[in-house]
Amino acid sequence: CGIVGYIGSREAYPIVIKGLHRLEYRGYDSAGVALMNNQNSLNIYKKAGKVKDLEDFVSGKDISGTVGMGHTRWATHGEPSDRNSHPHQSGNDRLAIIHNGIIENYGPLKEELIARGHIFKSDTDTEVLIHLIENIQEEENISLQEAVRVALHQVIGAFAIVIMDKDDPTELIAARKGSPMVIGVGKGEYFVASDATPIVEYTKNVIYLNDNEIAYLKRDELLIKSIDNIVQTPYIQELELKL
Ligand code: GLU
Repeated sequence: CGIVGYIGSREAYPIVIKGLHRLEYRGYDSAGVALMNNQNSLNIYKKAGKVKDLEDFVSGKDISGTVGMGHTRWATHGEPSDRNSHPHQSGNDRLAIIHNGIIENYGPLKEELIARGHIFKSDTDTEVLIHLIENIQEEENISLQEAVRVALHQVIGAFAIVIMDKDDPTELIAARKGSPMVIGVGKGEYFVASDATPIVEYTKNVIYLNDNEIAYLKRDELLIKSIDNIVQTPYIQELELKL
């Protein structure tokens, strides 16, 4: 339902939580965050309920890190619960994903992945997508960037996703098809969100990702490619939206 991501030099958690509050108007049943701390551990906290419940839950826990993402979920596959909340992880715990929308062919994909030994912790379509990406990466021995691209060719449905990789804390990967995604361009930092409301207070310069595009966001660098691997020239727009 709602997506916020940040990569830069500020602490990510306050930006992500504030962003999730700004997205509350959309309605949701659960909320969660993933944060990469300076020791490169990926901390994931998620809860059924309100963003406020998530904030209470993380109190006293490690919420440090300058790369992070958060999600408010509106359940489509799997009841609202802590374990079905996003972010979801790959089987090797290396990757984390947040997802808006529906992966329609998750059923057959899940069966195939189970046959290959994958164990699922949730009932969501989302978890299937991150396991699919992991599977492609391991079997074809290709980069995560490539694996995301290949996986997106195999899924049917509508999605906006953001992925974090524990082994590469310098990058966030975002992609969309049929669900909106906006990138905020800052100085030495990037924002990503399902609409501009979490971004406007930090930057007015935004890029609306097009369908079938994948964005690779680093602190000082943005690369956008089509899922057919063609580099896209981003069109930076100035937001007029006021808070
Ligand atoms: N289909 C996903 C789920 O049920 C994402 C739902 C959403 O857009 O929040 O977990």
